[in-house]
Amino acid sequence: MTEVLVLNFTYEALNITSFQRAVKLIFAGKAEIVHDRDRLIGAQTFAMRMPSIIRMLYYIRRPMQKVALTKKNVLIRDDHMCQYCGLHGEKLMTVDHVVPKSKGGPSTWENLVAACMRCNNRKNNRTPDEANMALRRKPKQPKYIPWIQIKRNTLPDEWGKFLFLYNVSIEERIG
Ligand SMILES: [Zn+2]
Repeated sequence: MTEVLVLNFTYEALNITSFQRAVKLIFAGKAEIVHDRDRLIGAQTFAMRMPSIIRMLYYIRRPMQKVALTKKNVLIRDDHMCQYCGLHGEKLMTVDHVVPKSKGGPSTWENLVAACMRCNNRKNNRTPDEANMALRRKPKQPKYIPWIQIKRNTLPDEWGKFLFLYNVSIEERIG
């Protein structure tokens, strides 16, 4: 693993880069090492430890990304937790129209929630009031979901504390 986690000036995770690019940023005085690996890189004239995490020395402004309204993102917003009974789980979650489609309920952030299959079936074609099932919180459009895509199946331990806020999607590497 030679990828390097890049933090913003404010320590929020920005992206993942190659160590070559990270080293360039460090030598250009644009970034500092936050954590390095127990491994040397370099040639005859110099050697340094391989960076694992670097931090930009100036603030990088990022445009707010609009979060796409997808089933997956509704489940992420709701932490894969059934908004009716509180059951937690990745596999069994469905997306429920709070006001059912059949009653004119739109497919919007405000009208979609994560629901377990049991609650979804129980609620059926009824509103929460009709079904006497209260929502745990009012569904809202998320302003921003930090998203870093990492093509690995494991992450270095030291990255954890900078990524806990993030929805890290880990793509399994094949072959
Ligand atoms: Zn439920």
